[in-house]
Amino acid sequence: MAKDEIKTPLILEIKGNSLDDGPGIRSVVFYKGCPLSCVWCHNPESKKAAVEISFDAKTCIGCGACREVCPKNALARDNPFYIDRSKCDLCFLCLDVCPSGALDSVGKAMSINDIMKIILPDKPFFDTSGGGVTLSGGEPTLFMDFTSGLLKLLKQNNIHTLLETCGFFDIHKFMDRLYPYLDAIYFDIKIIDREVHKKYCGVSNEKILDNFRYLFRQAANDGKMFLPRTPLIPDMTDTENNIRDIASFLKSLNIIEAALLAYNPLWHEKSDKVGVNDPYKHSKVMTSFRETSVMERCKTIFGNAGITEAKR
Ligand code: SF4
Ligand code: SF4
Repeated sequence: MAKDEIKTPLILEIKGNSLDDGPGIRSVVFYKGCPLSCVWCHNPESKKAAVEISFDAKTCIGCGACREVCPKNALARDNPFYIDRSKCDLCFLCLDVCPSGALDSVGKAMSINDIMKIILPDKPFFDTSGGGVTLSGGEPTLFMDFTSGLLKLLKQNNIHTLLETCGFFDIHKFMDRLYPYLDAIYFDIKIIDREVHKKYCGVSNEKILDNFRYLFRQAANDGKMFLPRTPLIPDMTDTENNIRDIASFLKSLNIIEAALLAYNPLWHEKSDKVGVNDPYKHSKVMTSFRETSVMERCKTIFGNAGITEAKR
């Protein structure tokens, strides 16, 4: 068994009572770690599969207690993100003395049973609303065996399961370990041009598109819900050419329903907290909500290709 498959993931958060991540009322398990590195990632704290430290400048009251206890001299007002992560060894002594909660650790090791203990009390809400559990990220498919174990247990408890994925995975392992226990798959399709995809997402999209084609056909055969989703990112994914290309790609598979996700610029603050360099921090177009006309243009292109907007 390959090393990457036996890893236990870190969990960022388990969010209850979500109405935005699939049908009904859902609990959403956010994994930490992703094989892509999209420049617009809305959860920059989910990119690395390792524990991190975060600092919230808005919450800090400037007492200096953290600087006094830090054995590595990693904290200074002059540091770009307050914490010099090249010095920090993640001892977390600073968290213990911070009175405001401005410092925090990001990512928690949880067993499948730990997760189930949090989720199971909400089962009555799933049952009455047609909801269930959504696995999101980060990217749950990075941890095939763990995710397989979690999905199996959810199905044993008769809970509806949905996976949100970037599509970059080994399809054979996916079909063997995850697919049998999934009721629904939300599959992101971001950019069709291979080079542009590589530029903005860090990897080529060949494997993603192949997996998409295969999985869509398989899900259609088996009556499983399969929803293509395109996040609309200013001048990256929402260009006329790209939306046309995506519409043609979907049409070539006879897909008639897909979701267009409106741009949310609020991720920039999150990048600062985990010390991720954000080249778009001062870009007006990337730090503003997009005009509604862009969404309308994209919907029209999809509509002209016979693709209607899915209700998520
Ligand atoms: S985690 Fe430890 S090394 Fe890192 S900043 Fe805090 S006290 Fe310093
Ligand atoms: S201990 Fe907390 S509140 Fe005080 S300076 Fe450090 S981060 Fe800010």
